[in-house]
Amino acid sequence: MNKNGYSMRSVFSLFSSDLAIDLGTANTLVFARGKGIVVNEPSIVAINKNTGEVVAVGREAKEMLGRTPGNVVAIKPMKDGVIADFKVTEKMLTYFIQKAHNRRVLVHPRIVIGASEVYLVEQAMAAAIGAGLPIEEPSGNMVVDIGGGTTDIAVISMSGIVYSRSVRVAGNEMDESVMHYLKRKYNLLVGERTAEQIKIEIGSAYPLEKPMTLEVKGRNLIEGVPRTVTIDDSEIREALSENISTIVNAIRVALERTPPELSADISDRGIVLTGGGALIKNLDKRIREETGLPVSIADDPLASVVLGTGKMLSDFRLLRLVSID
Ligand code: ADP
Ligand code: MG
Repeated sequence: MNKNGYSMRSVFSLFSSDLAIDLGTANTLVFARGKGIVVNEPSIVAINKNTGEVVAVGREAKEMLGRTPGNVVAIKPMKDGVIADFKVTEKMLTYFIQKAHNRRVLVHPRIVIGASEVYLVEQAMAAAIGAGLPIEEPSGNMVVDIGGGTTDIAVISMSGIVYSRSVRVAGNEMDESVMHYLKRKYNLLVGERTAEQIKIEIGSAYPLEKPMTLEVKGRNLIEGVPRTVTIDDSEIREALSENISTIVNAIRVALERTPPELSADISDRGIVLTGGGALIKNLDKRIREETGLPVSIADDPLASVVLGTGKMLSDFRLLRLVSID
């Protein structure tokens, strides 16, 4: 905990004078001033175990997940919103910043890594700004950011965080739930990339208007051979139900703990969902149903945090107002 009493876990928006970075558990995004988002890639690094050399970073490294030969490991250096492996995180950041700079070389040759100040901003604050919430007003705004490792719930008023809570249930946990479900019900073993794909394609938090099915390829655990199974949305909804309930309950608790004046504001404006998990089908509907409040999804939920930090790049007053010192 820092002196403001917030968990530092959710503080990972880094700035240089021209770059804003959202170092996420699942994805890293870089915003360049005057250009917008210049890097948007998975937070994954493939490393040669024998030499320690970086084999691939980002999307290319994600392709290798579960497919690497013995001497290559695909590492996710961020875990539950914190840096779990500093060395690998540094390698990953260096690569992404390099990539961001290369594209700008003709425009801004003066940028040098590490040459400028670094500001830290609460992730929820950045997400709220990126989602366009009026954070400076003396009214309550609730933002729920469902990322890879954590779901971060915050109530913001007058440029400050009034309430914040983080639960370790988000996208990754859902992928695992899908894997467990398929194993239990069909004896089917699938990798984490397949599980994520299933979740993205047919995962939902509330019955769909049109049912969906999906053919899933995996390995049958008993026979040890490849098998294809057809699954439908209701099965994946069941697989995800416990995770979804955990998130909904955390939102309930947040509403209970919010000072009454501010909860009145939230009941007018509603809850805004950000992060990749906001895209789970009908999650907004489910939360609306269970809380009785209006719920909306940010325009570009996977980019809310970096868009928020990007906004601060060109608005120093805003940056000073919300950064943690
Ligand atoms: P982080 O900030 O922790 O890196 P993100 O906000 O980038 O996380 O969200 C990543 C998570 O969102 C992953 O678990 C991913 O599977 C999930 N996700 C991305 N798109 C969708 C989608 N369309 N439906 C459901 N989940 C999604
Ligand atoms: Mg995030």
